Amino acid sequence: MKGLSKSLYTTFCQCPKAMWLKVYNPDVATDDPALQARFEAGNEVGDLAMGLFGDFVEVTVRRDYGGLDLTAMVERTKEEMVRGTECICEASFALDSNYCAVDILRRTPGGWAIYEVKSSSSSVGDELNAPDKFQKYAVDIAYQRWLLEQCGVKVTGTYLVTLNRDYVRQGDLDIQQLFNILDLKDLVNNEYVKVASNVARAMEVLQQTSEPTQAVGDHCSKPYGCAFWDYCLGQQGVKNDEPSVFNLYRLSGKKKLAYLNAGKISFDDIKNENLSPIQRTQVDCTLNGTQYIDKAGSKDFLDGLSYPLYFLDFETMMPPVPEFNGTKPYQQITFQYSLHYIEQPGGELKHTEFLAKSDGNDPRRELAEALCGDIPEDACILAYNDPFEKGRIRELAAIYTDLSGRLMNIHDHIQDLLVPFKSGFYYVPAMGGSFSIKSVLPALFPNNTELNYSNLKGPVHNGGEAMTIFPQIAKMEPAKAAAARQALLEYCHLDTLAMVKVWEQLRETTN
Ligand code: SF4
Repeated sequence: MKGLSKSLYTTFCQCPKAMWLKVYNPDVATDDPALQARFEAGNEVGDLAMGLFGDFVEVTVRRDYGGLDLTAMVERTKEEMVRGTECICEASFALDSNYCAVDILRRTPGGWAIYEVKSSSSSVGDELNAPDKFQKYAVDIAYQRWLLEQCGVKVTGTYLVTLNRDYVRQGDLDIQQLFNILDLKDLVNNEYVKVASNVARAMEVLQQTSEPTQAVGDHCSKPYGCAFWDYCLGQQGVKNDEPSVFNLYRLSGKKKLAYLNAGKISFDDIKNENLSPIQRTQVDCTLNGTQYIDKAGSKDFLDGLSYPLYFLDFETMMPPVPEFNGTKPYQQITFQYSLHYIEQPGGELKHTEFLAKSDGNDPRRELAEALCGDIPEDACILAYNDPFEKGRIRELAAIYTDLSGRLMNIHDHIQDLLVPFKSGFYYVPAMGGSFSIKSVLPALFPNNTELNYSNLKGPVHNGGEAMTIFPQIAKMEPAKAAAARQALLEYCHLDTLAMVKVWEQLRETTN
């Protein structure tokens, strides 16, 4: 008989259909490109947390093919509990066909405490100040407590372990400071009383041979975004490759669902609705197969630029466990930039770039110095969605005070190439209601294969992949490392070349 795990139980609590699909039709899920990176981050954090209470025994047992041997893990857990082990990691329990593994099970005077480890971050006291944030974890921990108690284990405490977002690394990693332990007793108590009936209902759904019926709704994104969203929307008549209310520019999720529930899906269905000016442009252009250009608006923006003109893009990583002195969990660490530039009107397009060494050292000082050397004082700089670049430069200026004057000069001269698009000056239907550079570029240059991110041959096609691969390079063998660095350079180069092409196209439209 199919049984529950922690993951299946929490999925059931969000949506019974999602749990059923996970078990019986997982192939209809939409791939999450960031999943592997999150999984690896979770493993790194989980491994570090095992040492939080001193000596421990980890009872993980793997079969030859790499999968977990749950039966052996349950047996090992029993042995360690009898032996008097204080701290058991991945402590495993099974009852009937239901199963759970406790990240850290710690002996207490009257029984055992459960510690669930998550790679998210929190501050001391968050569970008291903002308990709602931890509700989703309480569901998971309540299931663990229930299963342990069904197995005859007295549970004396229910805790969540997260990274401490206020920890600043100085020297060696201090894991006592790195982690924040939150007592979720009250939240877990509230959830605990629901577990027995939830498990009974979930088991009924699990034994069903037909897919449960469930319309999409608010629950699809709370507490987690559902991987079956595209599949379920498709069942309700929303086609991925056709314009619909679900790609209307800046329409709230609530309004999208309201339209869907009213049977209004296509742009034709909503053309007479009350829309924002950009939404109106989007709908009209799409239905009529036309583009919209506000020449005066675009010209105003372009007139505000000057030479020398620079096009700047950063790549960053966000290590969950801080790697460098003075950094916190998930702090953005800038390791790369690409810079296209034109020194005078009609001048040649030139390029320079920086990619930090893959030696495990903090790349920021060298990057800040290179940036100050590459961009002359008072130069006009374009970024795409400039709060990101400006934010990173402010951070660098705050750390390297000797460079702060130059860095803030760069900061103060950055303008945002996104402005003409988000101001509604230029729209073509292929943008599909998104003004990210990844949407704007192919929309403006549909036939230019060199300006297509998916044609990049290496393993980096977006910022997420760049963020994931850079810290891994230090551990790669030389040929793979060289290929990864080349892929980073090509990706970031395309980001600023894309900006140059978009700027040129804007200029064309105003002639
Ligand atoms: S998209 Fe919504 S309705 Fe469909 S399985 Fe996921 S949570 Fe359930």
